[in-house]
Amino acid sequence: YTHDMEILQTGKPVINYEEVFTRANGKKLWLLTSKVPLRNNQNEIIGILGIGRDITDRKVAEENLKKSNLDLEKYIKDIVISNQELEQFAYVASHDLQEPLRMVTSFLTQLDNKYSHSLDEKGKTYIHFAVDGAKRMRQIILDLLEYSRVGKTDSEQEQVDLNVLINEIKILCSKQIKEKKAVITVANLPTILNYETPLRQVFQNLISNALKYTRSNVANTTIDISVVELKKEWQFAIADNGIGISKEYFNKIFVIFQRLHTKEEFAGTGMGLAVTKKIIDSQGGRIWVESEEGVGSTFYITLPKTT
Ligand code: ADP
Repeated sequence: YTHDMEILQTGKPVINYEEVFTRANGKKLWLLTSKVPLRNNQNEIIGILGIGRDITDRKVAEENLKKSNLDLEKYIKDIVISNQELEQFAYVASHDLQEPLRMVTSFLTQLDNKYSHSLDEKGKTYIHFAVDGAKRMRQIILDLLEYSRVGKTDSEQEQVDLNVLINEIKILCSKQIKEKKAVITVANLPTILNYETPLRQVFQNLISNALKYTRSNVANTTIDISVVELKKEWQFAIADNGIGISKEYFNKIFVIFQRLHTKEEFAGTGMGLAVTKKIIDSQGGRIWVESEEGVGSTFYITLPKTT
């Protein structure tokens, strides 16, 4: 009989308060109740009129939501911790692997230099394969180190003119551009406040992939770099007329070490897009691909606008 005494004493109604009861079956009943005093002709209070609206469904939903929010918060915290541990692990592992690997490479080189004259062809081939393996392992370790370092920058954000940045990448890739007879068209790009090094890495990875995964049966490799200004973000597109990617791999290619080709077909470690995605993710952007096999691919990235 919540509030009844108060109403009898003050004569004032109590409107819309929540109360909870336990039903006979043990379940809760939530009511949104209002009570008003009933008066006789002499204006004396002779009773109380109460109306309760059953709001159990809403309250149960609210309670569930609160619980799942708490669960979600805990889940996110756990993920953040395990992510940090994983990054730490990748860093330590790749860092510590470098030393023994240097040893392997250096003694293999000595073996090759000093004893190759006393080895038969088979022996020389074995050394060649071992050196090649060590070289690739070194690249994988370096990639892994790079991946684990993404987002850990000491540098400050600065105004980056993307037209200049793309031009510099073009100069850096001029050998491949020449080889592939590539025609790169670049829209007028904005100047954005960002970290220059990771941003350069993003565009360089995407452009060098476009220059790598080309089709031999086209006269010119074309790469088209464009931008759309959206309300809260910049959306960039890097489109090529290369070999394309089958739909089933649209997500897989962004995972570390995932490749669709052997190293004989196309060189690489399968790390470029993973690094690219990690950089974009760390900035609150998105990356995805649209592609058709034998036609070409377009990689889209968005970056939140910062002033
Ligand atoms: P890598 O080039 O070292 O293999 P990436 O992470 O950059 O590593 O790319 C992963 C895979 O995605 C590549 O092996 C390739 O199969 C595919 N890919 C990436 N870019 C393109 C592209 N522009 N056209 C076709 N396939 C691509």
